[in-house]
Amino acid sequence: AALHHRDLASTRHFVGGKVPLGLKRKALRVLVTGGAGFVGSHLVDRLLERGDSVIVVDNLFTGRKDNVVHHFGDPNFEMIRHDVVEPILLEVDQIYHLACPASPVHYKYNPVKTIISFPMNSFPFLFNNAKVEAKINARFLLTSTSEVYGDPLQHPQVETYWGNVNPIGVRSCYDEGKRTAETLTMDYHRGANLEVRIARIFNTYGPRMCIDDGRVVSNFVAQALRKEPLTVYGDGKQTRSFQYVSDLVEGLMKLMEGEHVGPFNLGNPGEFTMLELAKVVQDTIDPNARIEFRQNTQDDPHKRKPDISRAKELLGWEPKIPLREGLPLMVTDFRKRIFGDQDSAAT
Ligand code: NAD
Ligand code: UDP
Repeated sequence: AALHHRDLASTRHFVGGKVPLGLKRKALRVLVTGGAGFVGSHLVDRLLERGDSVIVVDNLFTGRKDNVVHHFGDPNFEMIRHDVVEPILLEVDQIYHLACPASPVHYKYNPVKTIISFPMNSFPFLFNNAKVEAKINARFLLTSTSEVYGDPLQHPQVETYWGNVNPIGVRSCYDEGKRTAETLTMDYHRGANLEVRIARIFNTYGPRMCIDDGRVVSNFVAQALRKEPLTVYGDGKQTRSFQYVSDLVEGLMKLMEGEHVGPFNLGNPGEFTMLELAKVVQDTIDPNARIEFRQNTQDDPHKRKPDISRAKELLGWEPKIPLREGLPLMVTDFRKRIFGDQDSAAT
């Protein structure tokens, strides 16, 4: 009977998002900033599939209409072309904040905007959106990054590690920008009592990644398909841990629906040197692909691997798809986008 006195608008009222038998779950209104991007568009797919209505706010800086075009015409889907550093007020139940240039090439393009505009300008508006609905506890989820650990002195990285970030380097606009975003998220949480969630995302790959954004997996896959040499930066012994995008999306949704603020590492603990990654790409696409060594970029972190014990224990989440299984799924998508459907059908 008590349920009648509550707004049953969301699964949030039910632990783990499970609706008691006999009660139909009411759809949520969800804002996804950066929803036309790589990760965002996969998240949008899942939210719509679940029956929610989704508003995407994206300025298409690195995102593409193509990533969400299959939802055009769906009454539960709306896309607004808008820069999140400008005010916008939308009444929603949940906000997934993904809008941000994510690859080193893109975030270094306008570093001052990356560090100042994103956290400082976009947050007051987004939090204002959350506040409109504060009566029903709207939630704000920040997609932070493993880059908050900088060039880590602790390995693997646990959420309690504070990191080793160069405050004046070429990557700082992104690393410090995301650290500031985490600070603001926690200050709004403590100060304004807003419900927040923080995800620290480790390197993620999959279909719809920007083809020429300079990230290592997209570079190697595109290079191997185009019969160009794989460009390994430095000695290739630096490591990263690569997570398939569907695993990340599941983690983000579990985090949003769960009881814990975080931060949570969301990543696949499978760790690879860049030379090992090149080998996986060769095995998957072209065993004869050549490797060419290039000078490394400044302040490149030497190693990175998530400790995901916290997410396993508190969210009941862990990634399922190893690199050798996920990579072919991305290759199929890249083949189509690089060569067009006809050629890919022939290969
Ligand atoms: P992406 O570049 O594909 O997506 C980012 C989206 O945000 C794009 O659609 C872009 O157009 C949009 N955007 C950028 N600036 C905007 C602005 N001012 N206003 C409105 N929209 C804007 O990148 P992604 O890989 O999907 O990353 C999504 C989020 O996840 C980012 O916040 C990124 O920092 C974080 N993240 C990603 C990874 C990864 O490996 N992919 C790792 C760590 C963190
Ligand atoms: N890298 C590489 N070749 C490339 C692009 C990147 O060897 O063509 C290396 C880069 O030096 C870094 C790692 O791959 O050590 C991951 O780079 P990416 O830009 O994908 O992600 P991030 O540095 O943000 O983890």
